[in-house]
Amino acid sequence: MTKFSLKNKTAIITGGGSGIGKAISLTFSSQGAKVHILDFNLEAAQETVKEINNTGERAEAHKCDVSNQKNVNEIINKITKNDKIDILVNNAGIAHVGNIEAVNESDLDRLYDVNIKGVYNCIKASIPSMKNGGGVILNLASIASVVGISDRFAYSMTKGAVLTMTYSIAKDYINEDIRCNCIAPGRVHTPFVDGFIKKNYPGKEEEMFEKLSKTQPIGRMGNTQEIADLVLFLCSDEAKFITGSNYPIDGGFITLNG
Ligand code: NAD
Repeated sequence: MTKFSLKNKTAIITGGGSGIGKAISLTFSSQGAKVHILDFNLEAAQETVKEINNTGERAEAHKCDVSNQKNVNEIINKITKNDKIDILVNNAGIAHVGNIEAVNESDLDRLYDVNIKGVYNCIKASIPSMKNGGGVILNLASIASVVGISDRFAYSMTKGAVLTMTYSIAKDYINEDIRCNCIAPGRVHTPFVDGFIKKNYPGKEEEMFEKLSKTQPIGRMGNTQEIADLVLFLCSDEAKFITGSNYPIDGGFITLNG
């Protein structure tokens, strides 16, 4: 028997067009899941789907802004006409660099809309399907959820909310056989990290990359496959005793720094 099989399961993965979400999408499909990718970058989502289809597995791309409830409901309703949702991975998220003085109201609203309301929208739309036979929800929190990260005021705020939403959902739906967990990655090398380094530290990209790598006591950033493998475990039946938990995956950031 193959462990961590997702055969005959349907998974929704938000932000599956890039970085961690893309690695999760490819990993889930390699374990037999049918994958629906919700991403506002349709071309990127279609590229992931193409890679999955080339391996003979099934996947679909949907253009979706997770912060828009109407948009999310339309797409998830369409998906549930044919498929029961077994797994939801709330991965889509955006970054912001700056302390509270550097965060203006529109930055705060945007971070809230995507990183908090986006998670709320996707869970709310998926629960009715999951109530029929159970399901697993996995949220992308961050080390910022538990320790805050310097110069990441708005981002840390949103990821703190992702952690507490996880606890709340796990409690409210335990009797419906819906598990809900989150993971708290340290820095992972993705376009998200390259993007904010480029935007916020122009001309100092290499220096900042080195500096950010060294903030993990293990001396490097994580890679997307390492994150996807933990997500696979937590969403598989092998993890069916796990709910309401947060898993750091951070090269020692939370416990070994300082
Ligand atoms: P990424 O920028 O490489 O990919 C994010 C994807 O989400 C993109 O495909 C983007 O189009 C999509 N997206 C963004 N906003 C969206 C929206 N409103 N609706 C639909 N799709 C949207 O990011 P990543 O580094 O792979 O990060 C993925 C998740 O992991 C995020 O939630 C991030 O906060 C979290 N995380 C990342 C790191 C890291 O170091 N990379 C660390 C901890 C947590």
